[in-house]
Amino acid sequence: MQAVIMAGGKGTRLVELTKDIIPKPLAPVCGKPILEWQLQKLKENGIRDVILIIGHLGEKIKEHFGDGSLFGMNLSYIEETEPLGTAGALFYAKEKLRDGPFWLILGDVLFDIDMKRMEAFHEAQRALATLLVHPNSHPYDSDLIVKNDAGRVLAFDSKHNVRQGWYDNCVNAGLYLLDKSFCDLVPAPQKTDLEKGLLSKLVTQGAAVYAYATPEYVKDVGTVERIRQAEQEWGDGSAARRNLKRKQRAVFLDRDGTVNIDKGLICKPEQLELEPCAAAAIKLLNRSGRLAIIVTNQPVVARGLCDIETVEEIHRKLKTLLGNEGAYVDDIIYCPHHPDKGFPEENVAYKIPCHCRKPDIGMIEACVAKFNIDLRQSWLIGDRTVDVQTGKNAGVRTILLETGAAGQDGKYEAEPDLICSNLLEAAEYIAVTEGE
Ligand SMILES: [Zn+2]
Repeated sequence: MQAVIMAGGKGTRLVELTKDIIPKPLAPVCGKPILEWQLQKLKENGIRDVILIIGHLGEKIKEHFGDGSLFGMNLSYIEETEPLGTAGALFYAKEKLRDGPFWLILGDVLFDIDMKRMEAFHEAQRALATLLVHPNSHPYDSDLIVKNDAGRVLAFDSKHNVRQGWYDNCVNAGLYLLDKSFCDLVPAPQKTDLEKGLLSKLVTQGAAVYAYATPEYVKDVGTVERIRQAEQEWGDGSAARRNLKRKQRAVFLDRDGTVNIDKGLICKPEQLELEPCAAAAIKLLNRSGRLAIIVTNQPVVARGLCDIETVEEIHRKLKTLLGNEGAYVDDIIYCPHHPDKGFPEENVAYKIPCHCRKPDIGMIEACVAKFNIDLRQSWLIGDRTVDVQTGKNAGVRTILLETGAAGQDGKYEAEPDLICSNLLEAAEYIAVTEGE
């Protein structure tokens, strides 16, 4: 696999660090240029063949890295005589690229990810382009990606749009896998914006553009403030710990009665309202470096009370409300099934015995595979005995909450490891006793 790094940007927002003597990609993070970290991470993922697009002060980059042999890399350069945006230089890169997919990386993105996972996703979807996406703590003022359940990108939702409805917290992170044929879309060396100029057109035409969501560390370090934050996360190892090659700690959260107020079966977005401290609790989990994943039984689908699309809309509302308060969940997994047939108005296709309905552990097993989770270091928090039983069955520790059903449903005998008055108290317990 080859990679192209767009290292030609002018970096006016970093001039305090670069003094306009060095180009932006040579700005230091923890004592090493951003670009050197990028090359190191590529090398760790087996990618040594890299094409660097250079521009303003590009000769300094050439001086520092040469042909790459001192860094164990094979580097070649394309010099922009005028700025060509985030994609214009693909016109020139094409002749250096082999057939098949290649990585495209923006020059101010610091990352530590298991690249093989995204490559496998790109291949499985037979995508023309795959964007790395993740949730962030301020979706309300971010450009968002609208995708379907399979990850197919349906639209780009600019932060300048007035958003009427509920939305997914899904933000483009600046790492791409593109097929070489993508370069044909740039017919001449001209200033071209990757997202606005190429990808959004392709999406409108129905091309195979996909979004790969991951909780791993990817950060735009285009401002001095963001470099300072990154130095902390990079320096204390918290960035590296999130790489999915390493075992992850997760906190599985029940939904109704735990994150949102228990109002019985919820089958309309209007019925969903957050528990008062849920956003603060989830924000704490986000900051503690743990995955926050909702696992919920939603037999509303099997009972014919609403369809899958409505459940998704309810979850978009949940993500919007959390995002408004700076919190996000890494995933929401739900079981739409129910085992008992024979009710009026039921949706027969979902009236099946399944392996995902709690207290069975299919949803947790799916998360373990997806996020490489260490169950012994993980927790499940819920308000019902079925949550406690699920945790026992899966081999994670459990916290029963006094919100929602408060464990009074009387269905299972399993004892929780701890009882807390609400989700915030539970999150504080985990973060304080087990650290970050
Ligand atoms: Zn199920």
